[in-house]
Amino acid sequence: MNTFKLTYGTMFNPPEELHQRYDQALLKTKSILGLEHAMLIDGKEVFASYKFADYNPANTDLLLGTFQKGDASHANLALSAARKAFPIWSHIKWQDRLVLLRKAADLIDERLYEIGAVLSLEVGKNRMEALGDIAETADLIRYSCLQMEKNNGFIIPMGKDPVSGFETQNTSVMRPYGVWLVISPFNFPFALTGGPAGAALAAGNTIVIKPATDTPWVVRLMMDCFRDAGIPSGVFNYVTGPGSTLGQALIESPEVDGITFTGSYPVGMKIFRDFANGRYIRPTILELGGKNPVIVSRNADLDKASIGIIRSAFGLQGQKCSAASRVFIEDEVYDDLTDRLKILTEKLIVGDPTDRSVYIGPVVNKNAFEEFKTYTSELGKHGKFLTGGNVLSENEFRKGYFCLPTFVTDLPLDHHLWKQEMFLPITTIARVSSINEAMKLANDVDYGLTAGFYGAEEETDWFFDQIQAGVTYANRPQGATTGAWPGFQPFGGWKGSGSTGKNSGGNYYLLQYMHEQIHTIVK
Ligand code: NDP
Repeated sequence: MNTFKLTYGTMFNPPEELHQRYDQALLKTKSILGLEHAMLIDGKEVFASYKFADYNPANTDLLLGTFQKGDASHANLALSAARKAFPIWSHIKWQDRLVLLRKAADLIDERLYEIGAVLSLEVGKNRMEALGDIAETADLIRYSCLQMEKNNGFIIPMGKDPVSGFETQNTSVMRPYGVWLVISPFNFPFALTGGPAGAALAAGNTIVIKPATDTPWVVRLMMDCFRDAGIPSGVFNYVTGPGSTLGQALIESPEVDGITFTGSYPVGMKIFRDFANGRYIRPTILELGGKNPVIVSRNADLDKASIGIIRSAFGLQGQKCSAASRVFIEDEVYDDLTDRLKILTEKLIVGDPTDRSVYIGPVVNKNAFEEFKTYTSELGKHGKFLTGGNVLSENEFRKGYFCLPTFVTDLPLDHHLWKQEMFLPITTIARVSSINEAMKLANDVDYGLTAGFYGAEEETDWFFDQIQAGVTYANRPQGATTGAWPGFQPFGGWKGSGSTGKNSGGNYYLLQYMHEQIHTIVK
């Protein structure tokens, strides 16, 4: 019996078989690099006149594949295919829709290693992070199916009107909106496409998906799972190309009935405003950035705190919306903890993320690499590097975007980088005189995604009560601010980190993909 369940909480201690299967899949994947991949619209492979290349961020000489640079005409084609498929898909019995979606989730599980290898090559994720992203997607899809089932398709008998002489029957029915748009980011390209897509489809919507330009391949592999599971043509459509043109055309189309966008705060706010220009209000699920704090009290277990902070600060090179980007440490334990953070960080291996021993891969693209240099140059002038602060040169690492994991101390608390998401392996640390001061600073940002606390058990209620964030953890060595999982820690943000207050992979998520209709029959 397989007793190992891969989640972000268990990924630090995998069985040997997992490594063997990943290595085999990687070899196989390396034999199919450089191919051209099509968009998928109405079940057909569609090619555009212009293409774009997808390179490996660990070695920019390595061409992974060529993809279609879709434009407004492809946006319209995909939206009409989804519109045409909506009456059919929404009228299939919900139980039958779930059979197909569960099949897709099983196919994702079956192809875990092959897709994981592509994900490592495309994003620069280490093997465990890559496999986690895929496994989470299958669980997210299953979680939406489970919610549909648990709520009996959201068909609920209501009270009978107290009208004498008549018998009334009232029923609440949750029904799908229509055509749902899913726009996803590069960092969790599988889960943050598949999670919303699974929810939209389970609810009976049809979908158009636009992945990030850095991650078209892995999302195409998800489309293959949907197709091979037997989800009908036109129910899901996949277009690739720039957010600024193709993405914008999708946002501006009146054919979109609802949207889930996961990405940065500035792009999310633009989408929110542009989408509001339609003829009426449509559901807008936005999952945006973070500036996640960790508070360490004088009563903390510093072994747990140091490992949890490092995992969350530098997992996926700090390119997680949930990354620990600010650490506030009570004076009494500041020196001890910062010493530990320095020692542990300098032990992390930076390199090719497909290599088993490597924890830190490259950042995703040249832009991110250049931003790391700009930020560290500024941070070096105003604060001190506890460790890191540099990129690796081409001599050291051929042609990859490798940046050293960086902790910054002594940065004045009014410096703007305390409040701005950098989305890189850079975390700032401050000494505070009390946990109340730490809490004030922790909440003094426009974001409210995740947060972590290390301290005495009696202090945890205070932390949960005071902190302004959607996913919060206390005394967790597996990750101070990272590592959510559907059904365990549903994921979503407060304030500028999210628009709905209903976390993905949780009890209240699926309902957002349906609107209510009341049926009253007088007999
Ligand atoms: P971006 O905001 O740059 O891009 C996200 C997606 O939006 C991409 O597919 C992009 O396409 C597309 N896009 C860009 N401009 C437009 C536009 N005008 N209209 C429509 N679509 C557009 O984010 P990143 O991919 O860089 O991802 C990182 C960000 O995502 C971070 O801020 C991170 O915190 C956040 N995030 C939030 C999560 C959450 O759950 N709250 C989870 C994961 C990440 P293209 O790639 O072609 O530009």
